[in-house]
Amino acid sequence: MTDLLTAVPTCIEHERLAFALLEARTRGQYLTRLRTLSRDERAELDRRERKALASLVDHELEHGCNG
Ligand SMILES: [Zn+2]
Repeated sequence: MTDLLTAVPTCIEHERLAFALLEARTRGQYLTRLRTLSRDERAELDRRERKALASLVDHELEHGCNG
């Protein structure tokens, strides 16, 4: 029997974090197109995107995976 944990080619956690980043970016772009955002709203969106990116990079460094 093959060990499923070592045989999985992609990292599920990496995919989850990559998706969260994509979602944060998409939401920011969508809201920006929809209406004019206040400075606070823009800052909040920017903060979320940075956090998502940082989580993804941290995970890659810790886990050694690259998608
Ligand atoms: Zn990983």
